[in-house]
Amino acid sequence: MLGIDIGGIGTKVSLLDSDGTLLGHDRAPTPRGGAAMAETAAQLGLDLARTHRRTVVAAGAGVAGVVDDGVIVAASSSFSGWIGFPVRAAFEERLQVPVVVDNDVNAFLVGEVRLGAARGARDALGIALGTGVGGALWLDGELYHGPRGAAGEIGHMPGFGEEPCTCGQKGHLETLASGRGIAHRYAALGGAPLAQGAQEVATRARAGDDLAVRVFHEAGAGVARAALVVAAVLDVVDVVVGGGVAEAADLLTPGIEQLIAAEPPVSGRPMEVSFAALGPAAASVGAATMADSLRQIRV
Ligand SMILES: [Zn+2]
Repeated sequence: MLGIDIGGIGTKVSLLDSDGTLLGHDRAPTPRGGAAMAETAAQLGLDLARTHRRTVVAAGAGVAGVVDDGVIVAASSSFSGWIGFPVRAAFEERLQVPVVVDNDVNAFLVGEVRLGAARGARDALGIALGTGVGGALWLDGELYHGPRGAAGEIGHMPGFGEEPCTCGQKGHLETLASGRGIAHRYAALGGAPLAQGAQEVATRARAGDDLAVRVFHEAGAGVARAALVVAAVLDVVDVVVGGGVAEAADLLTPGIEQLIAAEPPVSGRPMEVSFAALGPAAASVGAATMADSLRQIRV
């Protein structure tokens, strides 16, 4: 199976054997415009299959934005020509196989539940800390999308201060725990402006910069608080944190651990926060496993 992950910066593809073994992975920069994005991803996938002498029989795609019936219905303004794009039809035309399409954070969580850090979990919350903050819910053994596809979007959970959020509101988790939020807070609290964003804040934190340490600590505590709210509502205590900012797991963990120790879920079951085990391949691997269901239907 072929798995595709189209993010704001990079497009990634993974090829999985029928038993879930990862045969290969590749990536390329994401171009601008729906047709170009689909073309680049499809070509990358076909090239990967050719390299491994495999025939693609079904594909899954995890893509940025809210997906409804194979069409992008909402996306960040940073994507041009993406809202309204019939992404499933575009992939099916280019790959000539059935394709399942879902949101990229949903695909990330499916990957981690089936083959990664939350393997075998019946219920799990996925949190992706990237440029923004995305979330996904796995309930009773399957993805829960909600009636409008926005279930689990904890990046826009309110109650985290007064900073303006990218969505136009303020004080959302994203302002505290996204890559953009971390870099912005570091500068707003008096740190030097940084060209490399959150990655540079992490480098400074590891070098002993107290302000950088504090910004990551508060980001971790924010993530834990949001997860505890979800646990209070849904009794979900298995949490997987991924995305580029999660590479600073060492800096996020103290804030996470301090908060979940101070405010454990009322169920008495401790919250288990783990970091993505599949790394940058998680969403494309998850998307490939979603394609497995298509293959079975076809056979
Ligand atoms: Zn927001």
